[in-house]
Amino acid sequence: METIVQFENSLIFAQEMDKNDPLQAYRSQFHFPMINGQRQLYFCGNSLGLQPKSVKEHINIELEDWANWGVEGHFEGRNPWYHYHKFFSQKMANVVGAKADEVVIFNTLTTNLHLMMVSFYQPTQKRYKIMIEGGAFPSDYYAVESQIKYHGFDYDDACIELVPRPGEDTLRTEDILAKIQAHKDELALVMIGGVNYYTGQFYDLEAITKVGHSVGAKVGFDLAHAAGNIKLKLHDWGPDFAVWCTYKYLNSGPGGPGGCFVHERHANNPSLPRFAGWWGYEEESRFMMEPGFKPQNGAAGWQLSNAQVFAMAPLKASLDIFDEVGMDALVAKRDQLTGYLEFLINDINQDNRFKIITPSNTKDRGAQLSMSVNGDGKTIHKKIMEQNVIVDFREPNVIRLAPAPLYNSFEDVYHFVQAIDKAFD
Ligand SMILES: *Cc1c(COP(=O)(O)O)cnc(C)c1O
Repeated sequence: METIVQFENSLIFAQEMDKNDPLQAYRSQFHFPMINGQRQLYFCGNSLGLQPKSVKEHINIELEDWANWGVEGHFEGRNPWYHYHKFFSQKMANVVGAKADEVVIFNTLTTNLHLMMVSFYQPTQKRYKIMIEGGAFPSDYYAVESQIKYHGFDYDDACIELVPRPGEDTLRTEDILAKIQAHKDELALVMIGGVNYYTGQFYDLEAITKVGHSVGAKVGFDLAHAAGNIKLKLHDWGPDFAVWCTYKYLNSGPGGPGGCFVHERHANNPSLPRFAGWWGYEEESRFMMEPGFKPQNGAAGWQLSNAQVFAMAPLKASLDIFDEVGMDALVAKRDQLTGYLEFLINDINQDNRFKIITPSNTKDRGAQLSMSVNGDGKTIHKKIMEQNVIVDFREPNVIRLAPAPLYNSFEDVYHFVQAIDKAFD
């Protein structure tokens, strides 16, 4: 799908694009919110993905097996709960470009970020600083701040923020790499988002990993806005760890479980500090219940508890869809759909009503365009929402437009931009 399409601002053109879209059939596999009998234009898949219709059946299977088997469902259920986390490894690994053993689904994103920092933020008196992107998601700041304080360091001193050059909205890769170099002797961990939740910028994770490691720091990523959105190659890029949530582009529902990657070079290293629980224990002898923690190999060795089956069942349904589609087809449509949105939105930007702060180069972004409104962004947002649209607003003035390639259509995008245009009238 690398063909260059000459976009047109017309409904007929958008409908033509939908006809030629190889993923068009997937749209009908999702529930769209209805208000007063009207289907909403949904552009919030970066915040909470829509529900795959197959979710209900996946939850029902577990409800029935619990009813029919009680505790025996751990082994007799159709998806035996004892091994439930294992049903996710390969499919999740395919989405983030990892080996199955490097990936585990458990807990939630922020919890996992803490668990990973317990293992991979090991500050010394000389090397104790953490580098994060300025304007990171608040939870990431809180996690980093509390870890720094937990180890007895001063947050303002130990946290290094990456900020754009004056007058610019996003970070330049060369500036990120130079800053890592500049702090090469004191940097313990580089921990940044894959895609920044606010600007929609995708960072060069491969280059960051390489330079981070070359100065002797550990490297970890928060992929909340990248998992299921960007074609990642975690194993090859080689960060020490990565964490993500699955309720955004991965459609696992509110509070859905977290994902975690630990590179295989750490797979079998029982000397790494970690907070342990019985489900991370070596599987064959787990029920001997002996004192002394023996972790199983790979990311699964960081598990604490047995699988949260009801929270995980929706993700099982969703990963089946991702597995069928594959990241290549998804990314191809993502670029067309986001490109079309960009084309239309530029077409209605008379008098500098707004500025798109997301990079225009497709390799530096995913499915999100962040629109910084000149003027009263909150009122514009409200006027857009009043037209059967669901889209997200972030203080002070940014509306995040996120077409999800699995279920948004080109026609959706066309009507969406019509609604935006009207909101500015
Ligand atoms: C969505 C998001 C979170 C949310 O964390 P939870 O622990 O899942 O509530 C954290 N960090 C980033 C970067 C996010 O985008």
